[in-house]
Amino acid sequence: MSVPTPTAPAGASRVGPGRVGRYEVVVVGAGFAGLAAAMALREAGIDDVLLVERAASVGGTWRDNTYPGVACDIPSHLYGFAAHPNPDWSGVYATGPEIREYLETVAVVEGIIPRLNSPLTDAWWDDEWETWRLRVGGPGPVDVSADALVLACGRLTEPRIPDVPGLEGFTGPVFHSSRWRHDVDLDGARVAVVGTGASAVQLVPELARTARVTLFQRSPAWIVPRGARAYTDAERDRFRLHPSELADLRAQLFAEGEERFASRSGDAAASAAARDIALAHLRDQIPDPALRARLTPDYAFGCKRVLLSDEFYPALASGAVTLEASALAAVDDGALVAASGARHDVDAIVFATGFASTRQPYADLVRGEHGTLAQHWSRGMTSFASTVVSGFPNLFVLDGPNASLGHNSSVLMIEEQAAYLARTLANRFDSDRDGVLRVDPRAERAYTAEIDRAAASTPWITGGCRNWYVDDRSGRLTLLWPGTVTAFRERLARADGSEFLLPLQREVA
Ligand code: NAP
Repeated sequence: MSVPTPTAPAGASRVGPGRVGRYEVVVVGAGFAGLAAAMALREAGIDDVLLVERAASVGGTWRDNTYPGVACDIPSHLYGFAAHPNPDWSGVYATGPEIREYLETVAVVEGIIPRLNSPLTDAWWDDEWETWRLRVGGPGPVDVSADALVLACGRLTEPRIPDVPGLEGFTGPVFHSSRWRHDVDLDGARVAVVGTGASAVQLVPELARTARVTLFQRSPAWIVPRGARAYTDAERDRFRLHPSELADLRAQLFAEGEERFASRSGDAAASAAARDIALAHLRDQIPDPALRARLTPDYAFGCKRVLLSDEFYPALASGAVTLEASALAAVDDGALVAASGARHDVDAIVFATGFASTRQPYADLVRGEHGTLAQHWSRGMTSFASTVVSGFPNLFVLDGPNASLGHNSSVLMIEEQAAYLARTLANRFDSDRDGVLRVDPRAERAYTAEIDRAAASTPWITGGCRNWYVDDRSGRLTLLWPGTVTAFRERLARADGSEFLLPLQREVA
């Protein structure tokens, strides 16, 4: 995306690192969610906002993930902010670097200047002054206070590396897919890739071009065709010249995404049809029946994220990848030992083993009226509207509890949450309120019960398949929103402020 001349709206300079001290709102994290929050707040007239980011640049997951082949499996024209359509996407699916550049451009265009290299290290609710007190680390640690705190820290940020006995004795490079070691030359090397999720199916075909890959597969994934292709110059010109065409395309992609919900959530006919597509894809791309059998999932379609790839199976069929169809169980005397008992000698290990999604590190840092978020969430994340949490006044969590999707663009969810955040904060003094938004615990319990009811018969929690949407402490679906984006939009539209206690109710609840 080309970087246009910044035209910062009025007040934009205050959405930045300018002064230290008191702000109306502090937003933590400058990925999709943090930028969406800053934009929505400004739209609602709230521009006294400090955006802090622990890294050296904006971009969130698209800054951190630089593995070979990193890309998005949601169509590019749906994977962006509604207010910032990008006619210049290179193809139907954008690459990781392109998305990162897009986010950097949006920040420039919007005049959003985060305070970089500034991790939140502590946050507590000061009940006497009814304010958030925050400590922000970095080169010059500062104390900041704010009426409201927005956690936009992401949900797939903390690498999860399995506890593999003997791993510490492995002498070669070991790293996680989201912390790619570009200083390590893997050309011609024997590389173990552990895991077969969305990251692995993108990086394995790329890595296999130059390295000798052994892939540890604990569970095969359901994989459907991706159909990637580059846009032509003519198409990009048309998108640029006819914004309405771009808007129509986004609407069409949105509708197609919403339709996918049925197959991901357990609708029998839709799941069977999608499963047939995946099995046909496997048959078409893997001629060897024995290999095919090892790549065929034995769990319900949709339980784990359904993957899109046209390159993964061919890489395996070509013989460039050795498939070890069991988990990495141990490292012994320099060799990798699979659960099957097989031993593999390799020079490097890449863990494509996902993220600590259900236990977010920020939860330990944030103290509300009765303890930390981690304590409140000791049996798994809960909220009202997937965004606000009882015991944590004027706190908003974006992309946290029950805000992920398996069927459509997560940016859409983030934008809904950002809109809820902005309107709720803007109205916090309405109707005899005192500006402090305390979630009624009964509203949070009722919302949690709604989630549980909607999730009850879905493949995400039935059938015994393991996925990162479920908290193993409770068996509850705590990451995924168990509905369509439209249903989420409608649910948030029904939030009329009664989810918050009136000042006098505080003692009653
Ligand atoms: P993931 O989906 O959580 O996959 C982790 C993989 O590691 C799973 O296959 C898991 O097996 C495996 N694993 C864990 N321990 C293992 C062991 N000891 N031996 C062998 N395998 C082991 O992680 P991810 O691929 O990084 O993706 C995480 C999420 O990031 C995705 O679901 C998606 O939402 C997002 N993402 C999106 C894109 C995109 O294009 N939009 C791209 C990449 C990532 P089990 O299945 O048996 O647990």
